[in-house]
Amino acid sequence: MESSRQWQQHSGLVLDRVNEFDVIECLSCGYKHVVPIPTQEELEQVYREDYYSHEKPLYLDEHLEDLDWWNLVYDERYDYLESQLPGESRSLLDIGSGPGYFLLRGKARGWNTLGVEPSTRAAAHSRDLGLDVREGFVDEALVKSLGTFDVVYLHEVLEHIPNPASLLSIVTQLLKPGGILCVIVPNDYNPLQKALRTTMNFEPWWLAPPHHINYFDHESLLTLLKNQGFDILSRSSTFPIELFLLMGMNYVGDSSMGRMVHRQRKNMELNLTKIGCAEWKQRTYQAFAQQGIGREVVAYARLASFE
Ligand SMILES: [Zn+2]
Repeated sequence: MESSRQWQQHSGLVLDRVNEFDVIECLSCGYKHVVPIPTQEELEQVYREDYYSHEKPLYLDEHLEDLDWWNLVYDERYDYLESQLPGESRSLLDIGSGPGYFLLRGKARGWNTLGVEPSTRAAAHSRDLGLDVREGFVDEALVKSLGTFDVVYLHEVLEHIPNPASLLSIVTQLLKPGGILCVIVPNDYNPLQKALRTTMNFEPWWLAPPHHINYFDHESLLTLLKNQGFDILSRSSTFPIELFLLMGMNYVGDSSMGRMVHRQRKNMELNLTKIGCAEWKQRTYQAFAQQGIGREVVAYARLASFE
């Protein structure tokens, strides 16, 4: 069987067991992931039809409610990309573009945008926004029809797929010379999560197989990117949401508390911008990254072969 054959290539210390999956510190991959690894066919079914309906039924509504804040997050990313690219280099491919709002923001800023999204519902939503979005998965078959781009954006994609290295290899074909890859993944088994687990009896709440197959942190993501031929241009973190657990606001398994702490974090970031402290915030979040904390890793990279 495909899954058992794949499993043979992966071995390492078993860290956790959840929903019939083991999480291993894989020696050959260099990052943590579940075994057995779900097959591409199993995942395609999940993401085409089920993901936004069953797993994330409120995602589209909540994204809209949070849109002011998302646009702040997006603008920070576009500002950085624009600072690193010549003025005419404004083409972007968003792989796993979801409801399309990152693309929409880019389009409003003058970027030429294209999305690829497996969820029928999310792709249809994006087209309703007037965006160019292909429905499907990026693979070797699709790649030739897409062209090349100044930026490839992978927001919360690499943790979901069976073979991140092979997607990154495809990305190298999609980037123009000097183009930039922006990757965002959850920062899992991070120091705050591990400390909360050890000292305050939290179960490993960040584990979510089969949707999350891979569990990266700053170091293992950067190593993966370097192994695929990328140089790291810059990296940062998103807000260390675990700080709310230390404040006594236990959002684990409590979605209304989860929304509440998210709202507070959102307000803080919007207000920091409003009071003129956006740069201070960025430097602080880069310092979080240096400490290995922050809920997500945000990394910008360029192919090392580019001169
Ligand atoms: Zn592995």
